[in-house]
Amino acid sequence: MSEFVNIFLPDNSSKQLNLNSTGLDLANNISPRLAKESIGLNLNGKLADLNTVLTEGDKVKIITKKDAESLEFLRHSTAHILAAAVQKLYPDAKIAIGPTIEDGFYYDFYIPSQNLSIDNLASIEAEMQKIIEAELEFKKFKVENPSFQIEEFLKVGEKFKAELLEKYKDENPTQYGLFDKNNNLIWSDLCRGPHLQNTKQIKAFKLLSVSSAYWHGDEKQESLQRIYGTAWFNKQDLDNYLLRLEEAGKRDHRKLSRQHELFSVHEEAGGGLIFWHPKLAFLRARIEDFWKQLHEDNGYELVYTPHIARSELWKTSGHTEFYADNMFQMKPIDEQDYILKPMNCPFHVLIFNSTRHSYRELPIRLAEMGTVYRFERAGALHGLARVRGFTQDDAHVFCSPDQLVEEVCSIISLINQVYKKFDLTYSAELSTRPAERIGEDSIWDMAENALKEALTKSELAFEINAGDGAFYGPKIDFKLKDALGRAWQGATIQVDFNLPDRFDLKYTSSEGTFEKPVMLHRAIFGSLERFTALLIEHYTGAFPLWLCQTQVAILPIADRHNEFCKTILAKLKEKRIRAKIDVRAEKIGAKIRDAQLEQTPYMLVIGDKEMESQEISVRERRKGDLGSMSISQFMAEIQDNL
Ligand SMILES: [Zn+2]
Ligand SMILES: [Zn+2]
Repeated sequence: MSEFVNIFLPDNSSKQLNLNSTGLDLANNISPRLAKESIGLNLNGKLADLNTVLTEGDKVKIITKKDAESLEFLRHSTAHILAAAVQKLYPDAKIAIGPTIEDGFYYDFYIPSQNLSIDNLASIEAEMQKIIEAELEFKKFKVENPSFQIEEFLKVGEKFKAELLEKYKDENPTQYGLFDKNNNLIWSDLCRGPHLQNTKQIKAFKLLSVSSAYWHGDEKQESLQRIYGTAWFNKQDLDNYLLRLEEAGKRDHRKLSRQHELFSVHEEAGGGLIFWHPKLAFLRARIEDFWKQLHEDNGYELVYTPHIARSELWKTSGHTEFYADNMFQMKPIDEQDYILKPMNCPFHVLIFNSTRHSYRELPIRLAEMGTVYRFERAGALHGLARVRGFTQDDAHVFCSPDQLVEEVCSIISLINQVYKKFDLTYSAELSTRPAERIGEDSIWDMAENALKEALTKSELAFEINAGDGAFYGPKIDFKLKDALGRAWQGATIQVDFNLPDRFDLKYTSSEGTFEKPVMLHRAIFGSLERFTALLIEHYTGAFPLWLCQTQVAILPIADRHNEFCKTILAKLKEKRIRAKIDVRAEKIGAKIRDAQLEQTPYMLVIGDKEMESQEISVRERRKGDLGSMSISQFMAEIQDNL
């Protein structure tokens, strides 16, 4: 047997190491500085402990704090420290799972003796700090005898761990222990890892909130208590994050909705069903106007379709087979089963299919603001962002294969125009064929290449999510970035090989033969509800001029100025500028403050001086006093943004 192993680095260079060398040995071999900064490994595509023994042919990347994955190690390890601290403070606490999530981690507990609240977090943090300062080492050991260990777990009431081990007993389960300097085991947890080497690497953490959760997320199972936290490699990063969190809290669209009366949800009507109040409905109507005009200008034809359809249709489309759990089904009426539509696609297909089509008519682009209903668990509902009824800005394009690139390019151009209007930036991802799929490889090649070509032609940088496409075709997803840099789900362009088959779509080619069209699903806002949540948080309620119900507040200083204000109002109306006069008997300071609180873009202060000079004093909600100008000057100034 050789005394050496050869491993490969990310640049494909190789290193020869002594047998039984670990990732840390490799780091040391490259440079002592790298060893100092190393957190863990990416070993053959999977994250692994730094002290994993390397074997012949391994592909190894050493992960340092500079790599985003390093935070996985940190946060997941911190979750274990949380669990150890909770079990120290509440000896009857049983542990469930503790994964990382975006920006942090949580751990689920079953604690009969204690109903945790936010007030308990400080003492748990203090206990965690003690564990961290004890400089305990994370060490992995194999579960040699799973059946025995399951018994052991059950003896001490760790039934969740017992259940997990039962599930994974044939997959080389491992435990991790926290060991002190004398190699005494202080605490252990069933886990796959990977982790940090030592608790002292945890420099900055904070517990954030407590909520309830269910084992396996199933409401029929035990109710658990979940603690959320975050961890960072230094205090500065933690502080920045907490600041961001505070800012996000201020922008929470549910909170802003209460302040500005934007929308409501009513238990008596049902969760996840949105009532749009006038101010937000006004904004939505403007967005819909913009959307309709843009689509008519770009060769789309608008359609309207029903909200329900017989289950026969959903059988043909495959929804009753694959989507039943998400559909609202109605009681049979007249011996017919009806289903509330979860998607618009089959309806547009019916419109396409109701006439014969020649290649000369293609592409056919049908668009609709289509309201759909999908069941979501009550616990998953979240304001406008996660709902049970929502409106998609849906469109379906039927084209020939050789039109595909051009069609995708024109959709991308449309997406550009829409997001520019809202001053949003975005990134694109291409998801390619999954293992389980329908359709010949040649069709997948054609479609994937077309999407790639369209992205390249549109000069759009994109990432590839290999294997992440739907079973019926590849797709492009767009992720939007809001003012806080948070990502929101945006547009999708999806190629579909399935529905054209199921509904036997066809057109006659130039040779007179019947051909199957390519079908594209696409939405730009995605869900109008979610997009509006994004807008509320992105603009913190201070919507752009063109979306504001009141664009200009005219504020008379005293009653004697009202008549002059009316003449200003009339002039603004002529130019379709939306204004209102605040005739309340309030001081001018209060009127300005209220208009400002309502985020009215412009305020015109009118008093004796203004009446005399026939000029108006203009305030802007962000910039404050803009000085005096004539009415026509003011109107010209804002014309471009209406
Ligand atoms: Zn773990
Ligand atoms: Zn569709």
